[in-house]
Amino acid sequence: MARFKRILLKLSGESLMGEKGYGIDEKRLSDYARQIKEAAGMGIQIGIVIGGGNIFRGLTGAGKGFDRVKGDQMGMCATVINSLALSSALDAIGQKNRVLTAIRMEPIGQYYSKQAAIEAMQNGEVAIFSAGTGSPYFTTDTGSSLRGIEIEADVMLKGTRVDGIYTADPEKDPTATKFRDITYSDVIAKGLKVMDITATAMCMQNNLPIYVFNMDIVGNLKRVLDGEDIGTLVHN
Ligand code: UDP
Repeated sequence: MARFKRILLKLSGESLMGEKGYGIDEKRLSDYARQIKEAAGMGIQIGIVIGGGNIFRGLTGAGKGFDRVKGDQMGMCATVINSLALSSALDAIGQKNRVLTAIRMEPIGQYYSKQAAIEAMQNGEVAIFSAGTGSPYFTTDTGSSLRGIEIEADVMLKGTRVDGIYTADPEKDPTATKFRDITYSDVIAKGLKVMDITATAMCMQNNLPIYVFNMDIVGNLKRVLDGEDIGTLVHN
């Protein structure tokens, strides 16, 4: 019996790079697509938000002299590129899906509305929410919180390359220990780098639990959906 009826899955753009330094790693992409298809096969309704950090980040661009708003718009376009790549990988393995865009850009995707998203998911399509929130100065973490809350997801599953939230960055500090669960306010108070504060606060105010896990290990998405305790839960 699956734990959740409807999930919002957040994938970082950076993870899509796989072993590469930039862009999209086809192997990682197809690993993600297979895991997502497996989850859809469990009868779970799935909404997905992908970042764009493997291609462009507005803040980094601003540091190099780009106009911040245009840089963020470039970042949002990067998330559309990643969403189309995931859509194509899902098509290739026969998983129905639909790309929705926060900014109008038919025929690349359907303009987002809650109704269109629910309709897609109820029809067995994986709904891919691209272009973040559609506004600059936000991130795809905030886009995930927003879409997760709007579509009334049971949980936001944040797939990362680390297996949960640690007291310090485990890739830098070998003494770091993992939390099994933690409150949103502790995440904010301790300055833990799970999601940005805006996104965390939105989840806190709207009671959307976040589950952080390592999505780069094939099979982990199903393990989480089966109820295996392999990550960290953030809650009120
Ligand atoms: N972005 C934005 N508004 C949004 C979502 C994203 O302006 O609602 C831009 C922002 O410039 C961001 C970039 O898109 O840096 C890529 O998203 P993000 O950094 O969240 O990607 P990730 O770190 O998850 O790969």
